[in-house]
Amino acid sequence: MPERTCLGCRSVLPKSALVRLALDGEGRLRADSSGRLGGRGAYICPDKGCLAAALKKNAFQRALRSATHAGAPEALWEEIRGAAACISGRGR
Ligand SMILES: [Zn+2]
Repeated sequence: MPERTCLGCRSVLPKSALVRLALDGEGRLRADSSGRLGGRGAYICPDKGCLAAALKKNAFQRALRSATHAGAPEALWEEIRGAAACISGRGR
């Protein structure tokens, strides 16, 4: 299983335990649970603390090498939570 680093806490975890974030056609940061968004991806734990840390550090901009419209953190968190629901067994 490939491993990826969470942008928030820097933990290295199996890709399947993390949520992929990528930019949609409008340059918005979206949770990409199905892998349908191409291009550069960033990975994060489905954890609100990790999201807050990544936003604070501007980690998404760096990882995606692009200006991102992260939008409201709450809306992004809902997306991440929705994507995480697709990941087995985490229940968050
Ligand atoms: Zn994390």
